[in-house]
Amino acid sequence: MSYRCPVCGGVIANWLVKKEHFECPDCESLLTSNRQKVLKQSLVVAMIVWLLILIGVQHYSGSWGYAAVVSIEAGGILSAMLAALYYRLVIRLKRAV
Ligand SMILES: [Zn+2]
Repeated sequence: MSYRCPVCGGVIANWLVKKEHFECPDCESLLTSNRQKVLKQSLVVAMIVWLLILIGVQHYSGSWGYAAVVSIEAGGILSAMLAALYYRLVIRLKRAV
């Protein structure tokens, strides 16, 4: 997984984006990302997906116990995957001022 520099289009490694401010390895522009904000949003996405699965399974099975087991096992994996996908799609790099 890698990102593109908004200034020169060069490839930026994933581990660099984890820092708050970082330099492009090609053009040395000082860059920043919206990672902190997106990380929080992806956690909210995961919680909403998990709750929807919990409520959905309870609705079809009629049992809160069964719904809890299914949502913890399958729902946990699914919501984590969707959160990771959201994180990957929404993250943006920009030039620091
Ligand atoms: Zn660059």
